[in-house]
Amino acid sequence: MIDWQAIDTVLLDMDGTLLDLHFDSHFWLEHLPRRYVELHQLDEASRRELETRIVGEQGTLDWYSLAYWRRELDVDIVALKREVQHLIGLRGGAMDFLQWLKNAHPRVVLATNADRESLALKLPLTGLEPYLDTIVSSQDVRAAKEDQAFWQALQDREPFDPARTLFIDDNPRVLQSARTFGIRYLLGIRQPNSQRPERTLSEFAALDHFADIYPGNAAPAVKDQPAK
Ligand SMILES: [Mg+2]
Repeated sequence: MIDWQAIDTVLLDMDGTLLDLHFDSHFWLEHLPRRYVELHQLDEASRRELETRIVGEQGTLDWYSLAYWRRELDVDIVALKREVQHLIGLRGGAMDFLQWLKNAHPRVVLATNADRESLALKLPLTGLEPYLDTIVSSQDVRAAKEDQAFWQALQDREPFDPARTLFIDDNPRVLQSARTFGIRYLLGIRQPNSQRPERTLSEFAALDHFADIYPGNAAPAVKDQPAK
């Protein structure tokens, strides 16, 4: 499926790719709206209004900024995230994949829309950092991955050859943006959220298990672990 000889750089998304999207979906669509109306003593209509707004603004740089939501909603977003941090966990097989990449040694870059506050919460809880050569947040370059400016800025900071790069991300809009930039090898994720059904991506190949893309002769004996 993947010719690893043709790949120098692996760009990896975090939420929904290495980490189970269940935490984020639960936080943004259930926990935050509920706690917001509790803390400000608002009504059910305000809660639905916030849910609509959260869905509507998705994909913008502001949306990914915890400082933005803290300002807009006047709540301590990080403290609220910590209330449900037990839901932060790796997707099945992600740690084995990172270990395999470390041995296979392409350059491994986390390319994430998560802002630095989100990273500060999640990295210590998930143990990703030792497996990454570097981390680039859309906040660092002031453009979301949905925007071509992100990819240009990423290339300026961490030079990569798009023709020899594999990018894995659960978001089809982001994959489309990477394709427009010229990244040659693109993979989606069949089930970003362990609590939701699998889906098919019409325009991109989607991974069921990371182990599916190991070279045949190096398939690990370890089976995918369920996400915790
Ligand atoms: Mg993602």
